[in-house]
Amino acid sequence: MYMRVLKGKTMSCERQKVLVVDDETSNLKILSQILREEVDVLLAKDGKQAIRKANQFKPDLILLDVIMPDMDGFEVIRQLKSSPTTNLIPVIFVTGEIDTNDEERGLELGASDYIQKPFQASILKARVRLNLKLTKQRTMLEQLSNIDPLTSIANRRKYAEVLDVEWKSAVRHHTALSLIMIDIDYFKRYNDHYGHAAGDRALEKVANVLANQALRPRDFVARYGGEEFVLILPNTDYQGTVNIMEACRKAVAELEIEHIENEDKKIMTISAGGYNCLPNSQDTEQDYREAALKIADDMLYKSKQNGRNCVTCYQLDVSSPKNLYTKKSI
Ligand code: GH3
Ligand code: MG
Ligand code: MG
Repeated sequence: MYMRVLKGKTMSCERQKVLVVDDETSNLKILSQILREEVDVLLAKDGKQAIRKANQFKPDLILLDVIMPDMDGFEVIRQLKSSPTTNLIPVIFVTGEIDTNDEERGLELGASDYIQKPFQASILKARVRLNLKLTKQRTMLEQLSNIDPLTSIANRRKYAEVLDVEWKSAVRHHTALSLIMIDIDYFKRYNDHYGHAAGDRALEKVANVLANQALRPRDFVARYGGEEFVLILPNTDYQGTVNIMEACRKAVAELEIEHIENEDKKIMTISAGGYNCLPNSQDTEQDYREAALKIADDMLYKSKQNGRNCVTCYQLDVSSPKNLYTKKSI
């Protein structure tokens, strides 16, 4: 998922979306005519609709009328800024009356800019363009800080963030969650034999196939560091986890990257350790982050001891804790 983002397709080519909110149909028409050449325009005729569409379509910018019946612009922006889904979307107030108090109130609530009616089309366009450019830059920076530059998949920082969200969601919905640690076998020998640059290229290929094994919308793959990768699989049971681990192991072997120092295998292989659990609300943040990954890492160690190129998964069943191991090799 991150790979696709970094390669720039979504960042530079997609048209940006602007949500225009105004209770007057004629205003919606004018604004839409001015903007539609450059952006995709979404329309909302009241505050409620604005909040619904902002959540549904996640526009890049919102042009918001201040005076509207039922819910005014101030209330709309207050609600937008208090929701994690919409709080980063910049809002420009488009209003007939700017008294200094209102302007101050709007800015305090998080408005990015004010445009006064009647406006000149060219100025409106210029301000919209500027705000959209800032949004694009912010999104790019945010994405880049979450991406490992060598492999273009998510980095460890993003992993910690995603684990936090997924753990809390699993606790709330009483669903299972799996963590998988993956490590390339005898990678030091690979670097020593083929050179560091070849090692880098191999890492890219491995990351690429791993990212293609867990494809449910919330499955997540990151480079944890060095030649180690980590997967988070929400709402996945023990067997599902083992299946994904096996699919990863097989996919890497099928790359058939020559690795003559990898004992009798002669191609690049990985070992994997998994932990399938039912997250518990009593676990503190610090505890679960470290303990859950430690178990997956212990299982990885078992795979290494079992001859590498194999997977080992531990299932924690709260009602009857038990160890379940599986080992498979080609
Ligand atoms: P094991 O099968 O027990 O995992 O053995 P190993 O050699 O893979 O394990 P070890 O942890 O001793 O070595 C990991 C190697 O990965 C050492 C380091 O040079 C290499 N490595 C770590 N990060 C990078 C990287 O970004 N590029 C390249 N080319 N090599 C890296
Ligand atoms: Mg390692
Ligand atoms: Mg290794």
